[in-house]
Amino acid sequence: MKISQVLNSGNVTVSCEVFPPKKDAGLPHAKEVVQEIAALHPAFVSVTYGAGGTNSGFAMELAEEVQKSGVPVLSHLTCVSASKADVLAKAEAFRAHGVENILALRGDIPKEGTYPRPDQYLHACALIADLKARGSFCVGGACYPEGHIESPNWAEDLHYLKEKADAGCDFFTSQMFFDNDIFYAFLYRALSAGITVPIIAGIMPVTNAKQIARSVELSGTCVPRRFRCIADHFGDDPVAMRQAGIAYATEQIIDLIASGVKHIHIYTMNKPDVAAQIFRNLSGIIDPPHAD
Ligand code: FAD
Repeated sequence: MKISQVLNSGNVTVSCEVFPPKKDAGLPHAKEVVQEIAALHPAFVSVTYGAGGTNSGFAMELAEEVQKSGVPVLSHLTCVSASKADVLAKAEAFRAHGVENILALRGDIPKEGTYPRPDQYLHACALIADLKARGSFCVGGACYPEGHIESPNWAEDLHYLKEKADAGCDFFTSQMFFDNDIFYAFLYRALSAGITVPIIAGIMPVTNAKQIARSVELSGTCVPRRFRCIADHFGDDPVAMRQAGIAYATEQIIDLIASGVKHIHIYTMNKPDVAAQIFRNLSGIIDPPHAD
């Protein structure tokens, strides 16, 4: 099923992200993670893709596992480390495995190497256009409520986001954020720029204080005082931090839904127990069919 159909159904949707393993040995566990997450009946499950494309075989296997469970799959595809021809061949391989939905991404520029080569996509926008030109794919893109870390200002970031929308992007999924007001302001700016496709709010339940430090360093995400207090106070106690992180993410989601945001994507970090607790916390709030 196309993600655009899921998002335009009128229902509130909660979807989840999983990531493939780096090595063969991790595959059985990753498949179990997929099955446990699929059992929560998310609106769809997205499967990430290494910027270097090295784990693309595992990404394909996990996409198949999601589909076997009857949940729609969204396969991520990055273009930073391969030629255009190789990236499009990968998209066709996904299609041959029944994947209809692609999240088209540039990927982070590798610290070493020769990016960009003349035969490569420079930005996600051109990949989105080429995927849409091939017909039948539902194509999503990434957006950044606080601006992408390489962007000099919001205006420029929004300009290029609009280019992605104009290239045919069917929806956007946001980078994680911990302050909902930042997301609301971003939605307003996007709408003012004429971006009308659905924007899915990306929520990361932080259950480990070290994880925040790393994620924030990579993405430049702002950590509000209230959240910093939680991490400082409970960071050394894994049980307390997990409980507080789940409660914080749940509150963020409830506030988003109460404010009219219809689509939420949970960055599960391959922790089905965390996703399951959030779904339980929302069981009376999100539309059926969802696990209670
Ligand atoms: P782009 O849209 O190409 O934007 C990158 C930068 O270039 C931005 O600063 C933008 O403003 C600027 N820009 C865009 N177009 C132009 C233009 N025409 N001219 C000049 N500047 C331009 N990474 C992975 O490796 N694997 C994943 O599976 C993955 N999944 C992700 C999922 C989500 C929801 C998000 C938000 C991010 C994900 N990432 C993933 C990270 C992503 O690859 C990085 O943030 C990357 O640095 C940017 O990718 P993009 O597709 O947003 O790039």
